Amino acid sequence: MIIKPKIRGFICTNAHPAGCAQNVSEQIAYVKAQGAHTDGPKNVLVLGCSTGYGLASRIVSAFGYGANTLGVCFEKAPTERKTGTAGWYNTAAFHSEASSADLYAKTINGDAFSKELKTDVIEAIKQDLGKIDLVIYSLAAPRRTDPETGDVYKSTLKPVGDTYTTKTYDTDKDLIHDVTLEPANEDEIFNTVKVMGGEDWELWLDALAEADVLAENCTTTAYTYIGKELTWPIYGHATIGKAKEDLDRAAASIIAKHQNVNCKAYVSSLKALVTQASSAIPVMPLYISLIYKVMKEEGTHEGCIEQIHGLFDLLLQASPETDAQNRLRMDGKETNDATQAKIKALWDQVTQENFHEISDYAGYHSEFLKLFGFDFDAVDYDADVSPLADW
Ligand code: NAD
Repeated sequence: MIIKPKIRGFICTNAHPAGCAQNVSEQIAYVKAQGAHTDGPKNVLVLGCSTGYGLASRIVSAFGYGANTLGVCFEKAPTERKTGTAGWYNTAAFHSEASSADLYAKTINGDAFSKELKTDVIEAIKQDLGKIDLVIYSLAAPRRTDPETGDVYKSTLKPVGDTYTTKTYDTDKDLIHDVTLEPANEDEIFNTVKVMGGEDWELWLDALAEADVLAENCTTTAYTYIGKELTWPIYGHATIGKAKEDLDRAAASIIAKHQNVNCKAYVSSLKALVTQASSAIPVMPLYISLIYKVMKEEGTHEGCIEQIHGLFDLLLQASPETDAQNRLRMDGKETNDATQAKIKALWDQVTQENFHEISDYAGYHSEFLKLFGFDFDAVDYDADVSPLADW
Protein backbone atom coordinates (compact mmCIF):
# COMPACT_ATOMS: atom_id res chain seq x y z
CA MET A 1 0.00 0.00 0.00
CA ILE A 2 1.26 3.51 -0.83
CA ILE A 3 0.20 5.72 2.09
CA LYS A 4 -0.28 9.48 1.68
CA PRO A 5 -1.93 11.70 4.32
CA LYS A 6 -5.73 12.00 4.26
CA ILE A 7 -6.55 15.15 6.20
CA ARG A 8 -10.12 15.91 7.25
CA GLY A 9 -10.46 19.11 9.25
CA PHE A 10 -8.20 18.94 12.29
CA ILE A 11 -7.50 15.23 11.97
CA CYS A 12 -5.57 12.98 9.65
CA THR A 13 -7.58 9.80 9.13
CA ASN A 14 -4.66 7.53 8.28
CA ALA A 15 -1.10 7.01 9.44
CA HIS A 16 2.19 5.76 8.05
CA PRO A 17 3.80 2.83 9.91
CA ALA A 18 7.38 3.62 8.84
CA GLY A 19 6.91 7.34 9.61
CA CYS A 20 5.50 6.59 13.07
CA ALA A 21 8.48 4.29 13.69
CA GLN A 22 10.76 7.16 12.63
CA ASN A 23 8.99 9.51 15.06
CA VAL A 24 9.51 7.04 17.93
CA SER A 25 13.11 6.38 17.02
CA GLU A 26 13.94 10.12 16.84
CA GLN A 27 12.48 10.62 20.32
CA ILE A 28 14.48 7.66 21.65
CA ALA A 29 17.65 9.08 20.07
CA TYR A 30 17.02 12.44 21.79
CA VAL A 31 16.61 10.76 25.19
CA LYS A 32 19.70 8.59 24.76
CA ALA A 33 21.73 11.64 23.75
CA GLN A 34 20.89 13.28 27.12
CA GLY A 35 22.61 10.39 28.95
CA ALA A 36 21.27 7.49 31.00
CA HIS A 37 19.99 7.93 34.55
CA THR A 38 20.91 5.18 36.96
CA ASP A 39 18.54 6.31 39.69
CA GLY A 40 14.84 6.45 38.94
CA PRO A 41 11.61 4.51 38.69
CA LYS A 42 11.85 0.79 37.93
CA ASN A 43 8.24 0.11 36.98
CA VAL A 44 6.18 2.79 35.26
CA LEU A 45 2.50 2.74 34.34
CA VAL A 46 1.64 5.19 31.53
CA LEU A 47 -2.06 5.86 30.97
CA GLY A 48 -2.37 7.33 27.47
CA CYS A 49 0.98 5.91 26.32
CA SER A 50 0.63 5.90 22.54
CA THR A 51 0.85 9.53 21.35
CA GLY A 52 1.78 13.04 22.49
CA TYR A 53 2.95 13.62 26.05
CA GLY A 54 2.17 10.07 27.20
CA LEU A 55 4.31 8.48 24.47
CA ALA A 56 7.15 10.84 25.37
CA SER A 57 6.72 9.87 29.06
CA ARG A 58 7.01 6.21 28.16
CA ILE A 59 10.11 6.82 26.04
CA VAL A 60 11.82 8.85 28.80
CA SER A 61 10.94 6.18 31.40
CA ALA A 62 12.29 3.33 29.29
CA PHE A 63 15.23 4.83 27.43
CA GLY A 64 16.22 7.50 29.95
CA TYR A 65 15.75 5.51 33.17
CA GLY A 66 15.81 1.88 31.97
CA ALA A 67 12.32 1.34 33.46
CA ASN A 68 9.87 -1.43 32.69
CA THR A 69 6.82 0.23 31.13
CA LEU A 70 3.23 -0.90 31.16
CA GLY A 71 1.14 1.26 28.83
CA VAL A 72 -2.57 1.81 28.29
CA CYS A 73 -4.02 3.35 25.14
CA PHE A 74 -7.13 3.37 22.97
CA GLU A 75 -6.02 2.77 19.39
CA LYS A 76 -7.29 1.13 16.25
CA ALA A 77 -5.51 -1.84 14.69
CA PRO A 78 -4.77 -1.83 10.96
CA THR A 79 -6.32 -4.20 8.45
CA GLU A 80 -5.03 -5.30 5.01
CA ARG A 81 -6.99 -2.40 3.48
CA LYS A 82 -6.92 0.33 6.11
CA THR A 83 -4.08 1.76 8.16
CA GLY A 84 -4.16 1.64 11.94
CA THR A 85 -4.06 4.81 14.03
CA ALA A 86 -0.76 6.59 14.61
CA GLY A 87 -0.85 5.50 18.25
CA TRP A 88 -1.08 1.89 17.15
CA TYR A 89 2.02 2.21 14.98
CA ASN A 90 3.87 4.25 17.62
CA THR A 91 3.20 1.48 20.12
CA ALA A 92 4.33 -1.25 17.72
CA ALA A 93 7.54 0.72 17.07
CA PHE A 94 8.08 1.34 20.78
CA HIS A 95 7.76 -2.39 21.52
CA SER A 96 10.21 -3.27 18.79
CA GLU A 97 12.80 -0.75 20.09
CA ALA A 98 12.22 -1.80 23.72
CA SER A 99 12.69 -5.44 22.81
CA SER A 100 15.98 -4.67 20.99
CA ALA A 101 17.15 -2.81 24.10
CA ASP A 102 16.05 -5.67 26.39
CA LEU A 103 13.49 -3.49 28.13
CA TYR A 104 10.19 -4.90 29.40
CA ALA A 105 7.16 -3.37 27.69
CA LYS A 106 3.52 -4.40 27.74
CA THR A 107 0.61 -2.40 26.32
CA ILE A 108 -3.06 -2.94 26.98
CA ASN A 109 -5.34 -1.41 24.34
CA GLY A 110 -8.82 -0.55 25.61
CA ASP A 111 -10.92 1.91 27.60
CA ALA A 112 -8.84 3.20 30.52
CA PHE A 113 -12.01 4.55 32.16
CA SER A 114 -13.49 1.06 32.56
CA LYS A 115 -13.24 -1.22 35.58
CA GLU A 116 -12.33 -4.17 33.34
CA LEU A 117 -9.24 -2.47 31.99
CA LYS A 118 -8.09 -1.47 35.48
CA THR A 119 -8.43 -5.13 36.51
CA ASP A 120 -6.40 -6.28 33.48
CA VAL A 121 -3.65 -3.78 34.26
CA ILE A 122 -3.49 -4.84 37.91
CA GLU A 123 -3.24 -8.49 36.87
CA ALA A 124 -0.36 -7.64 34.51
CA ILE A 125 1.42 -5.69 37.29
CA LYS A 126 1.05 -8.60 39.73
CA GLN A 127 2.23 -11.12 37.19
CA ASP A 128 5.13 -9.22 35.65
CA LEU A 129 6.24 -6.32 37.82
CA GLY A 130 5.20 -6.57 41.45
CA LYS A 131 4.70 -2.89 42.25
CA ILE A 132 4.54 0.42 40.39
CA ASP A 133 6.82 3.37 41.29
CA LEU A 134 5.45 5.93 38.87
CA VAL A 135 1.99 6.44 37.37
CA ILE A 136 1.70 8.91 34.48
CA TYR A 137 -1.84 10.07 33.73
CA SER A 138 -1.87 11.44 30.16
CA LEU A 139 -5.31 10.62 28.82
CA ALA A 140 -7.01 13.07 26.46
CA ALA A 141 -10.46 11.83 25.53
CA PRO A 142 -13.63 13.33 24.12
CA ARG A 143 -15.96 11.11 26.18
CA ARG A 144 -16.04 8.85 29.21
CA THR A 145 -18.42 6.14 30.32
CA ASP A 146 -18.86 6.28 34.09
CA PRO A 147 -17.77 2.86 35.36
CA GLU A 148 -20.42 2.82 38.12
CA THR A 149 -23.52 4.12 36.33
CA GLY A 150 -22.76 3.43 32.65
CA ASP A 151 -23.68 7.07 31.86
CA VAL A 152 -21.72 8.55 28.98
CA TYR A 153 -20.24 12.03 29.48
CA LYS A 154 -18.97 14.17 26.60
CA SER A 155 -16.50 17.01 26.95
CA THR A 156 -17.01 20.36 25.24
CA LEU A 157 -14.56 23.11 24.38
CA LYS A 158 -16.48 26.26 25.25
CA PRO A 159 -15.90 29.46 27.22
CA VAL A 160 -17.40 29.78 30.68
CA GLY A 161 -19.46 32.85 31.58
CA ASP A 162 -19.49 35.09 28.51
CA THR A 163 -19.67 34.67 24.77
CA TYR A 164 -16.17 34.96 23.36
CA THR A 165 -15.23 36.29 19.94
CA THR A 166 -11.69 35.76 18.78
CA LYS A 167 -9.47 35.22 15.78
CA THR A 168 -8.93 31.66 14.70
CA TYR A 169 -7.25 29.88 11.83
CA ASP A 170 -9.13 27.29 9.80
CA THR A 171 -6.43 24.81 8.79
CA ASP A 172 -8.73 23.22 6.19
CA LYS A 173 -9.58 26.41 4.31
CA ASP A 174 -6.32 28.29 5.06
CA LEU A 175 -8.42 31.11 6.46
CA ILE A 176 -8.02 33.54 9.35
CA HIS A 177 -11.45 34.55 10.55
CA ASP A 178 -13.37 35.55 13.66
CA VAL A 179 -15.19 32.91 15.59
CA THR A 180 -17.81 33.48 18.25
CA LEU A 181 -18.07 30.81 20.89
CA GLU A 182 -21.17 30.61 23.04
CA PRO A 183 -20.59 29.95 26.74
CA ALA A 184 -21.13 26.47 28.14
CA ASN A 185 -24.09 25.74 30.37
CA GLU A 186 -23.72 24.06 33.78
CA ASP A 187 -24.39 20.63 32.31
CA GLU A 188 -21.64 21.01 29.70
CA ILE A 189 -19.17 22.13 32.37
CA PHE A 190 -20.12 19.18 34.57
CA ASN A 191 -19.74 16.77 31.63
CA THR A 192 -16.29 18.12 30.74
CA VAL A 193 -15.10 17.80 34.34
CA LYS A 194 -16.40 14.20 34.36
CA VAL A 195 -14.30 13.38 31.27
CA MET A 196 -11.12 15.42 31.71
CA GLY A 197 -11.14 16.13 35.47
CA GLY A 198 -9.43 14.15 38.20
CA GLU A 199 -12.06 11.54 39.01
CA ASP A 200 -10.61 8.79 36.85
CA TRP A 201 -7.02 9.59 37.96
CA GLU A 202 -8.18 9.09 41.56
CA LEU A 203 -10.00 5.87 40.65
CA TRP A 204 -6.79 4.52 39.12
CA LEU A 205 -4.77 5.25 42.26
CA ASP A 206 -7.54 3.80 44.45
CA ALA A 207 -7.61 0.59 42.39
CA LEU A 208 -3.81 0.26 42.44
CA ALA A 209 -3.69 0.90 46.19
CA GLU A 210 -6.48 -1.55 46.91
CA ALA A 211 -4.64 -4.24 44.95
CA ASP A 212 -1.47 -3.37 46.92
CA VAL A 213 0.57 -2.71 43.79
CA LEU A 214 1.71 0.84 44.65
CA ALA A 215 5.34 0.86 45.74
CA GLU A 216 6.43 2.70 48.88
CA ASN A 217 7.28 6.36 47.94
CA CYS A 218 5.56 6.08 44.57
CA THR A 219 4.85 9.17 42.47
CA THR A 220 2.02 10.06 40.15
CA THR A 221 1.39 13.01 37.88
CA ALA A 222 -1.40 14.20 35.59
CA TYR A 223 -0.78 16.74 32.84
CA THR A 224 -2.38 20.13 32.49
CA TYR A 225 -2.15 23.25 30.38
CA ILE A 226 -2.52 26.59 32.19
CA GLY A 227 -1.49 29.13 29.55
CA LYS A 228 -2.02 32.90 29.77
CA GLU A 229 -4.48 35.66 28.77
CA LEU A 230 -4.50 34.76 25.06
CA THR A 231 -5.70 31.21 25.68
CA TRP A 232 -7.57 31.62 28.99
CA PRO A 233 -10.97 32.36 27.40
CA ILE A 234 -10.90 29.08 25.46
CA TYR A 235 -8.70 26.97 27.71
CA GLY A 236 -7.65 28.01 31.21
CA HIS A 237 -10.91 29.73 32.16
CA ALA A 238 -13.10 27.59 29.87
CA THR A 239 -14.74 24.17 30.25
CA ILE A 240 -11.45 22.32 29.84
CA GLY A 241 -9.83 24.64 32.41
CA LYS A 242 -12.59 23.76 34.88
CA ALA A 243 -11.78 20.08 34.32
CA LYS A 244 -8.08 20.78 34.80
CA GLU A 245 -8.80 22.66 38.08
CA ASP A 246 -10.36 19.43 39.28
CA LEU A 247 -6.96 17.76 38.84
CA ASP A 248 -5.63 19.96 41.67
CA ARG A 249 -8.41 18.69 43.94
CA ALA A 250 -7.66 15.10 42.87
CA ALA A 251 -3.90 15.47 43.52
CA ALA A 252 -4.56 16.60 47.12
CA SER A 253 -7.03 13.77 47.60
CA ILE A 254 -4.59 11.15 46.24
CA ILE A 255 -1.85 12.39 48.61
CA ALA A 256 -4.24 12.26 51.58
CA LYS A 257 -5.66 8.82 50.75
CA HIS A 258 -2.40 7.05 50.03
CA GLN A 259 -0.20 8.32 52.84
CA ASN A 260 0.49 4.76 53.96
CA VAL A 261 2.74 4.33 50.90
CA ASN A 262 3.84 7.99 50.98
CA CYS A 263 2.43 8.59 47.51
CA LYS A 264 3.40 11.93 45.94
CA ALA A 265 0.90 13.36 43.44
CA TYR A 266 1.52 16.37 41.22
CA VAL A 267 -0.29 18.15 38.47
CA SER A 268 2.37 19.05 35.87
CA SER A 269 1.80 22.03 33.62
CA LEU A 270 3.29 21.58 30.15
CA LYS A 271 3.65 23.92 27.22
CA ALA A 272 1.24 24.08 24.28
CA LEU A 273 2.31 22.09 21.26
CA VAL A 274 0.83 20.19 18.37
CA THR A 275 -0.77 16.91 19.36
CA GLN A 276 -3.93 15.18 18.21
CA ALA A 277 -5.69 16.60 21.28
CA SER A 278 -4.57 20.24 20.91
CA SER A 279 -5.24 20.51 17.17
CA ALA A 280 -8.93 19.91 17.93
CA ILE A 281 -9.16 23.00 20.16
CA PRO A 282 -10.39 26.21 18.43
CA VAL A 283 -7.78 28.99 18.43
CA MET A 284 -4.92 26.60 19.32
CA PRO A 285 -3.56 26.13 15.75
CA LEU A 286 -3.26 29.93 15.44
CA TYR A 287 -1.80 30.40 18.92
CA ILE A 288 0.65 27.52 18.50
CA SER A 289 1.77 28.75 15.04
CA LEU A 290 2.61 32.09 16.66
CA ILE A 291 4.38 30.69 19.71
CA TYR A 292 6.44 28.41 17.48
CA LYS A 293 7.61 31.48 15.57
CA VAL A 294 8.50 33.40 18.74
CA MET A 295 10.02 30.50 20.69
CA LYS A 296 12.08 29.25 17.73
CA GLU A 297 13.48 32.78 17.36
CA GLU A 298 14.23 32.86 21.10
CA GLY A 299 15.84 29.41 20.91
CA THR A 300 13.39 28.07 23.50
CA HIS A 301 11.22 25.88 21.29
CA GLU A 302 10.58 22.40 22.69
CA GLY A 303 8.53 19.39 21.63
CA CYS A 304 6.92 16.65 23.75
CA ILE A 305 10.13 14.75 24.32
CA GLU A 306 12.17 17.77 25.47
CA GLN A 307 9.36 18.86 27.80
CA ILE A 308 8.96 15.44 29.37
CA HIS A 309 12.68 14.82 29.68
CA GLY A 310 12.92 18.09 31.62
CA LEU A 311 9.82 17.30 33.65
CA PHE A 312 11.25 13.97 34.86
CA ASP A 313 14.28 15.80 36.28
CA LEU A 314 11.84 17.74 38.47
CA LEU A 315 9.25 15.06 39.13
CA LEU A 316 11.74 12.54 40.46
CA GLN A 317 13.34 14.88 43.01
CA ALA A 318 12.49 14.20 46.66
CA SER A 319 11.14 17.76 47.09
CA PRO A 320 10.78 19.44 43.71
CA GLU A 321 10.05 23.14 43.39
CA THR A 322 6.32 23.66 42.89
CA ASP A 323 4.02 26.65 42.39
CA ALA A 324 1.56 27.82 45.04
CA GLN A 325 -0.90 25.07 44.05
CA ASN A 326 1.75 22.32 44.40
CA ARG A 327 2.02 22.02 40.60
CA LEU A 328 5.20 21.33 38.66
CA ARG A 329 5.73 24.00 36.01
CA MET A 330 7.37 23.22 32.69
CA ASP A 331 5.59 26.03 30.87
CA GLY A 332 7.71 29.01 31.95
CA LYS A 333 9.45 29.46 28.61
CA GLU A 334 6.02 29.94 27.01
CA THR A 335 4.11 31.82 29.69
CA ASN A 336 6.73 34.36 30.83
CA ASP A 337 5.64 37.97 30.29
CA ALA A 338 8.31 38.85 27.69
CA THR A 339 7.46 35.89 25.44
CA GLN A 340 3.73 36.40 25.87
CA ALA A 341 4.12 40.08 24.91
CA LYS A 342 5.79 39.07 21.64
CA ILE A 343 3.05 36.54 20.92
CA LYS A 344 0.37 39.12 21.75
CA ALA A 345 1.98 41.64 19.35
CA LEU A 346 1.84 39.07 16.54
CA TRP A 347 -1.69 38.06 17.53
CA ASP A 348 -2.87 41.67 17.21
CA GLN A 349 -1.21 42.04 13.81
CA VAL A 350 -2.19 38.76 12.22
CA THR A 351 -4.41 38.89 9.13
CA GLN A 352 -5.22 36.57 6.26
CA GLU A 353 -2.57 38.35 4.19
CA ASN A 354 0.37 38.16 6.60
CA PHE A 355 -0.42 34.92 8.48
CA HIS A 356 2.09 32.69 6.69
CA GLU A 357 4.78 35.33 6.95
CA ILE A 358 4.51 36.25 10.64
CA SER A 359 3.62 32.82 12.00
CA ASP A 360 5.37 29.47 11.86
CA TYR A 361 2.40 27.66 10.37
CA ALA A 362 4.85 25.72 8.17
CA GLY A 363 6.42 24.34 11.36
CA TYR A 364 2.99 23.68 12.89
CA HIS A 365 1.81 21.83 9.79
CA SER A 366 4.97 19.75 9.53
CA GLU A 367 4.61 18.69 13.18
CA PHE A 368 0.93 17.92 12.59
CA LEU A 369 1.87 15.63 9.70
CA LYS A 370 4.61 14.01 11.78
CA LEU A 371 2.03 13.05 14.43
CA PHE A 372 0.66 10.66 11.82
CA GLY A 373 4.04 9.52 10.49
CA PHE A 374 4.21 11.89 7.50
CA ASP A 375 6.80 14.49 6.46
CA PHE A 376 9.90 12.66 7.69
CA ASP A 377 12.87 13.08 5.31
CA ALA A 378 14.14 9.60 6.17
CA VAL A 379 10.95 7.88 4.96
CA ASP A 380 10.20 7.01 1.33
CA TYR A 381 6.51 7.81 0.97
CA ASP A 382 6.36 6.36 -2.56
CA ALA A 383 7.40 2.93 -1.29
CA ASP A 384 4.85 0.15 -1.04
CA VAL A 385 4.48 -0.70 2.66
CA SER A 386 2.32 -3.17 4.55
CA PRO A 387 -0.17 -1.40 6.83
CA LEU A 388 -0.03 -4.36 9.21
CA ALA A 389 1.93 -4.08 12.43
CA ASP A 390 1.55 -5.59 15.89
CA TRP A 391 3.24 -5.74 19.24
P1 NAD B 1 -2.93 12.85 22.73
O1 NAD B 1 -4.23 12.92 22.02
O2 NAD B 1 -1.69 12.86 21.91
O3 NAD B 1 -2.87 11.50 23.64
C1 NAD B 1 -3.97 10.97 24.30
C2 NAD B 1 -3.68 9.55 24.77
O4 NAD B 1 -4.84 9.08 25.50
C3 NAD B 1 -3.44 8.53 23.64
O5 NAD B 1 -2.45 7.61 24.06
C4 NAD B 1 -4.79 7.80 23.54
O6 NAD B 1 -4.71 6.48 23.02
C5 NAD B 1 -5.19 7.79 25.00
N1 NAD B 1 -6.63 7.61 25.22
C6 NAD B 1 -7.65 8.44 24.85
N2 NAD B 1 -8.83 7.93 25.29
C7 NAD B 1 -8.54 6.79 25.97
C8 NAD B 1 -9.33 5.81 26.64
N3 NAD B 1 -10.65 5.93 26.76
N4 NAD B 1 -8.68 4.76 27.18
C9 NAD B 1 -7.34 4.61 27.07
N5 NAD B 1 -6.54 5.51 26.47
C10 NAD B 1 -7.15 6.58 25.91
O7 NAD B 1 -2.95 14.01 23.80
P2 NAD B 1 -1.86 14.93 24.51
O8 NAD B 1 -1.93 16.28 23.90
O9 NAD B 1 -0.56 14.23 24.63
O10 NAD B 1 -2.52 15.09 25.94
C11 NAD B 1 -2.15 14.33 27.07
C12 NAD B 1 -2.36 15.17 28.31
O11 NAD B 1 -1.48 16.30 28.25
C13 NAD B 1 -3.79 15.73 28.42
O12 NAD B 1 -4.17 15.73 29.75
C14 NAD B 1 -3.63 17.17 27.93
O13 NAD B 1 -4.61 18.04 28.43
C15 NAD B 1 -2.25 17.49 28.49
N6 NAD B 1 -1.57 18.65 27.85
C16 NAD B 1 -1.51 18.79 26.47
C17 NAD B 1 -0.91 19.92 25.94
C18 NAD B 1 -0.82 20.13 24.43
O14 NAD B 1 -0.53 21.24 23.99
N7 NAD B 1 -1.01 19.09 23.64
C19 NAD B 1 -0.33 20.89 26.77
C20 NAD B 1 -0.35 20.68 28.15
C21 NAD B 1 -0.98 19.56 28.67
